[in-house]
Amino acid sequence: MHQIELHLRGALERQELSVLYQPLVTLASNTIHSAEALLRWHSPVLGGVSPATFIPIAEQRGLIVPIGDWVLETALQQVSQWRSGKDPHLQVSVNVSPQQFDQDNFVEKVQSKLAHWGLPGEALVLELTEGSLLVDLEASNTKLAQLRGLGVQVALDDFGTGYSSLAYLRTLQVDVVKIDRSFIWAMQHEGPTFVQAIVQIAHHIGLKIVAEGIETVEQRRGVQALSCDVGQGYLFARPLAPQQFGALLDQEDWASQRRTP
Ligand code: C2E
Ligand code: MG
Ligand code: MG
Repeated sequence: MHQIELHLRGALERQELSVLYQPLVTLASNTIHSAEALLRWHSPVLGGVSPATFIPIAEQRGLIVPIGDWVLETALQQVSQWRSGKDPHLQVSVNVSPQQFDQDNFVEKVQSKLAHWGLPGEALVLELTEGSLLVDLEASNTKLAQLRGLGVQVALDDFGTGYSSLAYLRTLQVDVVKIDRSFIWAMQHEGPTFVQAIVQIAHHIGLKIVAEGIETVEQRRGVQALSCDVGQGYLFARPLAPQQFGALLDQEDWASQRRTP
């Protein structure tokens, strides 16, 4: 832990961080719906370190805010380029840590970065987990409403990993629920009942549903049969360097090559 913290300090200044993009695919039309920005760190000393390892440390050590600001800035710059050159409706999804969301000026930061890149709020989806939102539900909802007032969409990430009560889905000001890949995998052994229940309730209250971690055609078929709206996973593509993602955008029928036969 100490090693990671030591080397992570200054990683941003030393330009050791980069952002990859993974497509989210609208299942009904086989089109790219958005790109999730996923942070990568290559340390010259430690090599590649997984975000699952270094992000919790960055959060605990007070390093996540500047890193998160940089990811947001990088992702907005990238999506503004893709929207003007390739797909005017493309959205970018950015993961937000609790400490970022808690900042008093978070909404202003988002607003000014969007303005700086000449983007409407609709270009951005912010992915938050229940850990960020449930500490103070009322305060969270106030902030979420301000973000949604800018046109920004809010996604509840990793639904199914934590407390994941269906009851709070009703009260949270979110637009999208991302069903965690552990639920998608469990469908193979346990059947569709759990995912079906989440989809039914989420759709009933007007939320869009993303199924995470789709690796097989069977999983794709399963979530599509349950009316999930959007899929994300290695079946479609791994997280890609910006240039590779741009090439996918140029290939109109790319996603339909992953269609269920
Ligand atoms: P997440 O937001 O749930 O992102 C999805 C993770 O699932 C990514 O892992 C992605 O590479 C992986 N994934 C996508 N499709 C598949 C699949 O079909 N199978 C499997 N097994 N995995 C798949 P990654 O990139 O390692 O990121 C892990 C987590 O780190 C993310 O989970 C997110 O919570 C966090 N993270 C990544 N980038 C950022 C960031 O910029 N800021 C913050 N605060 N957190 C980030
Ligand atoms: Mg995410
Ligand atoms: Mg997730």
